[in-house]
Amino acid sequence: MSAARRAAAAPPAAGISGAPALAARDVPGQALAARIVAWQRRHGRHDLPWQRTRDPYRIWLSEVMLQQTQVATVLPYYARFVARFPELHALAAAPLDEVLALWSGLGYYRRARLLHRCAQAVRDAHGGRFPHRAAQLAELPGIGRTTAAAIAVFAFGERAAILDGNVERVLTRALGFGADLALAPARRALWAQAEALLPQRGIRAYTQGLMDLGASVCLARRPRCEACPIAGACVAAAQGRAEDFPAKSRRLRRGQRTSGLLWLAQRDALWLVQRPAVGVWAGLWSLPDAESAAAWLARAQAWPGRGAALPVVEHALTHFDWRLEPLRWTLPARLPAAARRAIEADLPAGRWVARDDALALALPAPVRRLLGG
Ligand code: SF4
Repeated sequence: MSAARRAAAAPPAAGISGAPALAARDVPGQALAARIVAWQRRHGRHDLPWQRTRDPYRIWLSEVMLQQTQVATVLPYYARFVARFPELHALAAAPLDEVLALWSGLGYYRRARLLHRCAQAVRDAHGGRFPHRAAQLAELPGIGRTTAAAIAVFAFGERAAILDGNVERVLTRALGFGADLALAPARRALWAQAEALLPQRGIRAYTQGLMDLGASVCLARRPRCEACPIAGACVAAAQGRAEDFPAKSRRLRRGQRTSGLLWLAQRDALWLVQRPAVGVWAGLWSLPDAESAAAWLARAQAWPGRGAALPVVEHALTHFDWRLEPLRWTLPARLPAAARRAIEADLPAGRWVARDDALALALPAPVRRLLGG
């Protein structure tokens, strides 16, 4: 039998991994996928700017921006990026500082640095054209397995599985997949199930449908099962325990930190420092920090001028909650050069930047808000 004939004769529920799909309450995988495809075509999202193209560059850009970030937040950033870097070569040739400045406020800045590196890798190692297969895409900087699959699906129509947090939730609930996803064998098994469920036809609508379900129907808390196209097949819904899925024993334990931010102003300028290339807000421009506002105040009292503590900013990062205590200190407009040099020597290395110019730099979102940008 030829390979093509063998493929045609394969059982319809078998996915590309060869693993049989778990039946969701006696509904075979292909029927489940067909419901998702039909629902997506009728009720899913169709008007997002990156859905109107098959250009892998634009799809890649949107997928990286959408990692851990909601669509509404991404929309203006996507529009600005596409306007400034309409194609891959423009992004690859841009200075990293400019990419970071455009990314400023979108968070998870490592993505921006990897985006830039990836553009250069595609230009240098692939002649400026993205590879077509998910497996090759996943070798590029900043492109994980799900992002690679999403690009391969939407740009090239490959049958490839995605498994981000939203899709993980939909699939574990639908299948009643209760294994602990903190463990690698369970994750591998769920990937195999995700592959086994892939439809023979309609891969784009299916993939978008899973994303849409996870974002708007199968919510982490209080899923809207009454609006779900696979409710009749869903194991977790039938058992009335949707919120027990996905099972993960190792929950992230969030830490707490406090820092004091010094907003040192003179005339219309302020003192900015560039953060180290690794760590939180890596490479961004920011206000100098110390352990607390009180620590800055103790130092500032030896300087001319006056200052006051500003309202505390609570900022949530992936691994910890950060309490930011800003202190604004204004130096006199006229200051002898020697006094100014003495103050600068007391500060972390940085430079004076006019406020309007500061707002054009890559600033962390809370610092930008603090400065009124
Ligand atoms: S029926 Fe409810 S729990 Fe099951 S997949 Fe749909 S929204 Fe999620």
